[in-house]
Amino acid sequence: MPSAVKKTGQILIKGISNPDELNLDGQLPFYSFKRFFVPEKEGLFDYQNNKLRDKKSVYPERSQRALVGMNILDMKAVNLYDQVFEKDPYYQARRRNILIVGYSLTPEIENNIFEHKYEEDILEHLPFDIFLADYNAPSSRELRNSPPLKLRGGSGGLYKVFTGSIKGQRILEHFGYKDYEHIQFSGPIKEGEADKRMERLRDRLKNHHNLKIWEELGQRCIECGKCTLACPTCFCFRIDDAPAIKENLGERSRCWDSCYYQEFSEVVGGHKFLDNTAKRIHFWYFHKFARIPDEFNFMGCVGCHRCAAVCPVGIDINKVLEDIENS
Ligand code: SF4
Ligand code: SF4
Repeated sequence: MPSAVKKTGQILIKGISNPDELNLDGQLPFYSFKRFFVPEKEGLFDYQNNKLRDKKSVYPERSQRALVGMNILDMKAVNLYDQVFEKDPYYQARRRNILIVGYSLTPEIENNIFEHKYEEDILEHLPFDIFLADYNAPSSRELRNSPPLKLRGGSGGLYKVFTGSIKGQRILEHFGYKDYEHIQFSGPIKEGEADKRMERLRDRLKNHHNLKIWEELGQRCIECGKCTLACPTCFCFRIDDAPAIKENLGERSRCWDSCYYQEFSEVVGGHKFLDNTAKRIHFWYFHKFARIPDEFNFMGCVGCHRCAAVCPVGIDINKVLEDIENS
């Protein structure tokens, strides 16, 4: 049961067997829940003599997991994976075996990038099975006036319980808990509400290319790729073939990749479409704030600020977005 726990002063996500270990104080885990949905590395299939070795290796068994205490920002990232990997059988097999237990306390983020406070009306746009709304959450004043308190939580909070799927309902009812409200998922975005900031950023990126921003960032960035690893919405991967020496055996796998790496855009013959750091860093922003909005009508960034927190040269997404908007 991977959950947020506090270790050596940081919030990490670890498997727990004792509910007392669970940390529900609303702090953002250092790393996101991404790896449970899109693993760092996964085998796709084995082959022998250029053919699939056996059918079993195509869809490996997926273990069942409950992700307990997932914050709203990481849940929004799951909305993106659900869209991007909609037709991916590996993702879908894994996704079916994940139970999301969301939690309403909004992480406190230095240099808030986007408005992300919890309000009950965002629940229909979040992909959870069970959701615990904390009555004491500073960002959910409305809930303090809501009727009966339901559960007593690990942080001393009192929760109102929601379900967002039949799976969530079945689990609660299996344990004899019926005092919940069911919310029907109605897609990742609110109907008829254009996100003004998304539109501004997309417009600036597509129609007002300011080379100076990217050249300046390109001189600072050391292409370590930490931002992409820490980012919950970076999902790019590469495909690896590992042929064995004997018996013409081999394994195909995929693993996380980063558009900051020099090989990312390399094609046969050695040509790199992104042949300098300025182009690579521009590509990253363009993907999140122009191409993903074009495709899904929401941004490829949930505003968690993890990319800035891990960047060794202090590149802060908040500042870059301001520069794009003011360029
Ligand atoms: S703030 Fe940075 S790490 Fe967080 S989602 Fe946006 S780009 Fe990714
Ligand atoms: S973490 Fe900073 S230095 Fe490293 S690739 Fe990202 S922007 Fe560049």
